[in-house]
Parts: sequence; C-alpha cells; structure tokens
Amino acid sequence: MVPPAPSYRGRLAPSPTGYLHLGHARTFWIARERARAAGGVLVLRDEDLDASRARPEFATTMLADLRWFGLDWQEGPDCGGPFAPYRQSQRLACYRGAFAQLHAVGAVYPCRCSRQDILQALTAPHAGEEEPVYPGTCRPANPEKACEPVPAGTRINWRFRVPDGETISFLDGHFGPQAFVAGRDFGDFVVWRHDDLPAYQLAVTVDDAAMGITEVVRGADLLLSTARQLLLYRALGRRPPAFFHVPLLTDERGIRLAKRHDALSLRTLRAQGASPAALRATWDPQLAGIP
Ligand code: GLU
Repeated sequence: MVPPAPSYRGRLAPSPTGYLHLGHARTFWIARERARAAGGVLVLRDEDLDASRARPEFATTMLADLRWFGLDWQEGPDCGGPFAPYRQSQRLACYRGAFAQLHAVGAVYPCRCSRQDILQALTAPHAGEEEPVYPGTCRPANPEKACEPVPAGTRINWRFRVPDGETISFLDGHFGPQAFVAGRDFGDFVVWRHDDLPAYQLAVTVDDAAMGITEVVRGADLLLSTARQLLLYRALGRRPPAFFHVPLLTDERGIRLAKRHDALSLRTLRAQGASPAALRATWDPQLAGIP
C-alpha cells in the first residue's frame, strides 16, 4: 500500500540577529500563502545558534514584528507544538545525534584551517557572502582516516566531504531546474564548529527533517546551500522537502536588503505608521506561484 502523502508543512526560520526587514516579510508572506493554499501548517523556528550575534530582545521583537505584519503560525516558540522546542539553542541534542551519525560513516573529517588559511589557499575567491570553495588542505586521502581521534583542546571544525564532480540537481518551485557541481560550485563545508555548535547547514537540515517540513520557502541566496543540504539529507538517510526560493527584494538602488539597513526594517516601518496591507499590495501576487 502506498503511504499517504504527508500534508503540507512549511516553516519560517528567522534568526534573531537584528531587526527583520521587508524582504524577510515578503519571503515569509509567500511561505504563508503557500501553506494556506495547500491547507497546511506553518512552523516558526527561532534560529538563534549564533551566540555572538543573536540577542533575546531581537527574538521577542522578531515575533512581534511578524505578527504585526499579519503573519501567523501554528507551531513555534511562543505557541508550542508537537515538535517542540522550536528554538535551535534548545535542540543541541538533535544536532549532536546527527553529527554522530555522519561521523560514524566517515562522512566528516576534522579541519584545522582557520578562515585565513582557507582564503590564502585559494586562487580565485568567490564573490558575495558565499564561503570560498575549500581547497582540501585537511581532507584525508582515505576517508577511513577521518575517524581518528582528535587530541583534546585542538581547535577544529568538522567538514562534510562532498562527492567531487557529482551534479546535485533539484527542481525549485520558483526558479525551475537547478544543478550545482560538488567540488566546483561548493566544496567540503563545515557541519560542526570549533565552538562545539552545529553549523547552519547541519542544524537547518536536521530541523527541517525532524519537524516534518514538506516545503522550504526561503530567499534565493540560499539556492547553493540547498545543494549542500541535499547531500546531508542523503547522508542522514532522510527524505528532503521540496524547495521554493524567492527572489531577493532590493532597495531603490538595486541593493539587496540586509539587517544593517534600518530604513526598511519592520520596526521602522511600524513606527512610521506603515500599513502592512498597503505594503503587501505592492508585491506581485504571482511570486507565490499559486495557480
Ligand atoms: N535562519 C536563516 C536566516 O535567517 C534562514 C535559514 C533558512 O531559511 O534555511 O538567514
């Protein structure tokens, strides 16, 4: 018998590292529209792992600003749900379990390179915020060696070994067919950090799988991350969700919005008396891709 298709579960995954802006609101609104059109559930997950930048007051403001904007969710840190906790800093045991699984099969190896070493070992640095393709300095020739014990006190990041030359392809709900080549478009990436925390790629994959997310809606800047995450789903033996990447919102000068640009933060717009409905009315409804 064919198991029933899981009903739609979407998610909003903001990080409390500053005030959310109109670009976040637009992406989240599209996530909300897609969840509603499918008669599904929306989960809010507080991605607060970056202790140096995440602040509790941003976490509170972020939820308040999203609610002001008209967003709602059925599961989250403020309303609970069957997959609680919904705050990443409270989910470390899940990430440790997944990391142990990767470690056990030799999918990861310890890397002693500092960011500076990695940059210096490169011939052509990549533009934007993408992490440079790792040149493989610490990659063991034999994957079995990856499981050798690391001396206590060594400052290391654990990297996931990508299958060089393999094309990772997926059908994006907005951008259509996507293909990235492992080892060329992205290299071995960090899954466990030297400060004993999971990296974004691992944490988000583990959570989306554990929370039964069926479609990930997020900004187009994460298309390449999706390729990395698809490798993690495979290594962890989990079924990946569908992906729908949304074009990034830019300001009037064509520069993509960032948390450091305050003018279009939800906080500022709200203080100025902006109307969420009027803001939403300026967006192309076809962006949500709902027939
Ligand atoms: N928490 C991430 C961010 O705010 C988003 C992660 C995702 O949607 O996969 O940038």
